[in-house]
Amino acid sequence: MAVDPLIELRDVNKYYGQLHVLRDINLTVGRGEVVVVIGPSGSGKSTLCRTINRLETIESGRIAIDGRPLPEEGKGLAQLRAEVGMVFQSFNLFAHRTVLANVSLAQLKVRKRKKDEADRRSRELLERVGLASHADKFPAQLSGGQQQRVAIARALAMDPKALLFDEPTSALDPEMINEVLEVMQQLARDGMTMVVVTHEMGFARSAANRVVFMADGRIVEDRTPEAFFTAPESDRAKDFLSKIL
Ligand code: ADP
Ligand code: MG
Repeated sequence: MAVDPLIELRDVNKYYGQLHVLRDINLTVGRGEVVVVIGPSGSGKSTLCRTINRLETIESGRIAIDGRPLPEEGKGLAQLRAEVGMVFQSFNLFAHRTVLANVSLAQLKVRKRKKDEADRRSRELLERVGLASHADKFPAQLSGGQQQRVAIARALAMDPKALLFDEPTSALDPEMINEVLEVMQQLARDGMTMVVVTHEMGFARSAANRVVFMADGRIVEDRTPEAFFTAPESDRAKDFLSKIL
């Protein structure tokens, strides 16, 4: 697998002050691959996502997207964040703008699309996430699951090469989780490269090519879902799985 690497981390180390939060991380995500990252709270999953689109800097190691090192600053950075979209637990929609405007905004500013072109693309994407009829509403008029689907449409509007998801369903009421996971499943089937931090083991089993298990800032296991769930190798993973399954 990973014959065509899109995201590559080599010997990445990150500290928060004294805290060594990412330790010798080596990870390759191939084009079209879905990698699910799991692990106990505080193990560094969010930090890993944030380093990949350079919301955080690293102290040592290398990160490359599509063969190019991460840009340090400026225009390259905005370009990177368009190419590697991120979907957070909290959807961060603009409350005073319509759903359509939320999806169009970065297309105008970052992609420099004309308004009618951006709005047309936004409507296509809202259709894709099942929200075509909600384009003119405001975020507060939508459920949490619908808002998260708008956030996914907004990320897709940048035509990203990859999407990072950091616990996208953790803030949702249980009955809304599946509608978001179904959109993510469809993206996976359509070939989107995805790194997904989630506690949804059903999603990991059905959508992931690989499961990466983290503990204490290290990647402890990096295997197929079948191998990981049926025969975890490390005591840390066995312990973690016994608590959540
Ligand atoms: P996870 O997402 O797996 O729960 P995080 O990546 O959020 O883990 O955090 C990893 C560790 O880094 C934790 O010990 C957390 O308290 C710490 N941490 C996260 N963000 C910061 C920060 N901005 N400053 C200092 N410590 C942080
Ligand atoms: Mg986290």
